[in-house]
Amino acid sequence: MKNKQKMSALANSYDEHIRPLLDAIDRLRHLKLMQEGIQLPTIVVIGDQSSGKSSVLESLAGISVPRGQGICTRVPLTMRLQDHPTLSTPKLQLEYRNKTVPTSEEFVADAINAATEEIAGSGKGICSTPLTLVVKKSGVPNLTMVDLPGITRVPVHGQPDDIYEQIASIIREYICPQESIILNVLSATVDFTTCESILMSQKVDRTGERTLAVVTKADMAPQGLLEKVTVNAVNIQLGYVCVRNRIGEESYDQAREEETRLFSSDPLLSKIDKSMVGIPVLAQKLMQIQAACISRCLPDIANKINEKLNRNTTELDQMPQNPTSFGDAIRAFIHMLSSAKESLRNILIRGEYDDDSNEQMHGRARLADMLFKYSKELPSECPTSQKEFLIDEIKVLEESNGIGLPNFMSRSAFITLLRRKLKHISDTPIEFMTKVWGYLDDIVLKLLMKYSDNYPQLQLPIRRASHNIIEKMKKRSLQAVKEMIEMETIADFTLNPDYMKTWKELMEQQESFMEAINKTKKPSMQENLREVINKSKKPSKIYLNGFGEVEIEHLRQYSDSIVEQAFDMRMRLTVYWKIVVLRLADELALHVLRCLKVLVEDEVELEMVNEVVGTSANGIEKMLEESPAIASKRERLKKSIELLKESKQVVANIMDRIRSIGE
Ligand code: GDP
Ligand code: MG
Repeated sequence: MKNKQKMSALANSYDEHIRPLLDAIDRLRHLKLMQEGIQLPTIVVIGDQSSGKSSVLESLAGISVPRGQGICTRVPLTMRLQDHPTLSTPKLQLEYRNKTVPTSEEFVADAINAATEEIAGSGKGICSTPLTLVVKKSGVPNLTMVDLPGITRVPVHGQPDDIYEQIASIIREYICPQESIILNVLSATVDFTTCESILMSQKVDRTGERTLAVVTKADMAPQGLLEKVTVNAVNIQLGYVCVRNRIGEESYDQAREEETRLFSSDPLLSKIDKSMVGIPVLAQKLMQIQAACISRCLPDIANKINEKLNRNTTELDQMPQNPTSFGDAIRAFIHMLSSAKESLRNILIRGEYDDDSNEQMHGRARLADMLFKYSKELPSECPTSQKEFLIDEIKVLEESNGIGLPNFMSRSAFITLLRRKLKHISDTPIEFMTKVWGYLDDIVLKLLMKYSDNYPQLQLPIRRASHNIIEKMKKRSLQAVKEMIEMETIADFTLNPDYMKTWKELMEQQESFMEAINKTKKPSMQENLREVINKSKKPSKIYLNGFGEVEIEHLRQYSDSIVEQAFDMRMRLTVYWKIVVLRLADELALHVLRCLKVLVEDEVELEMVNEVVGTSANGIEKMLEESPAIASKRERLKKSIELLKESKQVVANIMDRIRSIGE
């Protein structure tokens, strides 16, 4: 009885300050503030299996919780101890799954077992859904603690194989937050350095600043205990408290008396400092740590609540108001359409991008890249099929040989050759346009989906619209490109003055070219010795501007007339080719630009209206139905805001109180 009074007095001295703090935190816990990702200061009890966790809680609460061999604690058990000095009989209740079940000291163990079975099933499996036990009793310390399943390496019969991982993950979830105080329960009978619970708490609390150790079973291993708790080999900063829990059928009062006697009379245990032994010391220490932790965390919790509240309120405000009338729906549709158009205009025509959009969406810039790459793919030199100089030309000229003056270059031969050369590159513009439309397909679809995000019921027709736009425009575009190439192949024409100028410059080399070929041709009878020697020096190559060194040996077997014509033809082709390539690049660029304009200004609207509105107004009416996803998001946000507002009030009240006490 003496002990009980002492504890009650202890609790009373903190009552005024601690109780409201704790109530506030418990209230926040009850409001399920943790669901919003805001952590609350919590004392978390961990320990290896059978280290005595439940016994310690029992000693603190003065009640019996399921305890014994094997795994007993299978779900996290939050214990809220509240000192009610005026209460003649203790009041106990279990809270789980939104229900409250009253119980009594006598039946609490059974009630916990029943609730555990309801939550985690009747086997030996564990579950992370918590169970809350509220104990209102005279003389208990004002504490809220969570008891977690004990750590076990070896699954017992009926337990899942991954039991260790399951338990470890629940424990980690509870001890990881900086707001958690870790109450590490260690049995005096084991080597602390090999305790699983020590290894786990050290992982999340390296410095040990939020870990407190309770050493149980002091009665079973007094030898060396003093050394163990003073050496502190496992680096615990909040200190050690050695205890002796209830054994067998002892009453709680008897157990406390036995504990006091043990630590004062045992020759070894009595040497341990009195500030480190006994359940009352533990209770007091925990209350102090808890109060300090709560007052330290409160301002931060207040900030986090505010932040989250602001975020959620903004998000709710930004959610689309579902249209409620036909007129509203039309307005919303027009708004969506014009926003999408404006956005497309920005990225495809103006080249203005949102800062946060990814580069792939920078349409104007990506299309410029593609055009540049395409222009590089078109060969700037006219491609030849024969390695030897002028042979392409000579072959065509020979084929088109007709009856006529020998020095008239055949026009049809030129066109034939030009057409053959163009075949080499005719696929390039088509491939380019296919790539451009592939890219635009992606961009247009992404954008239209983004703008219709709030109306999932419209997304299918809008997806169809996007597909139609691209298919239609791509078809037209490919047709236009084919025509461009066809124009080049059926006629040769340019007004470009460079053509004549450059051709003339190149032709100035014709005479010396022919001379070099003729140098050793048809040696005359009057050839002198010197010329015969020169013959062996007949040039096999000649340098031509615009071509570099070219072989000429092989040309000596052809008539002058045909070589001259071939030379002329090659010069024309060379100059004209450059003009053709430039034309294909420029025309295509202009074509793409025009397509973008048509797409943004006409086609998007046309197809969207076609697909969404169709022939009747049914489509638009669909907008009046709010999608279930949006509706539930709105509900969720509203609920969360309510909860946060309430929590904010709770925190504000308690902070006011702290301030007024401080004054
Ligand atoms: P838990 O698995 O960590 O919850 O451990 P329990 O509280 O169920 O205790 C395991 C066993 O150790 C039980 O049989 C307890 O009676 C016993 N035990 C716990 N604390 C003490 C103690 O201080 N002294 C003695 N002798 N036995 C204890
Ligand atoms: Mg237990």
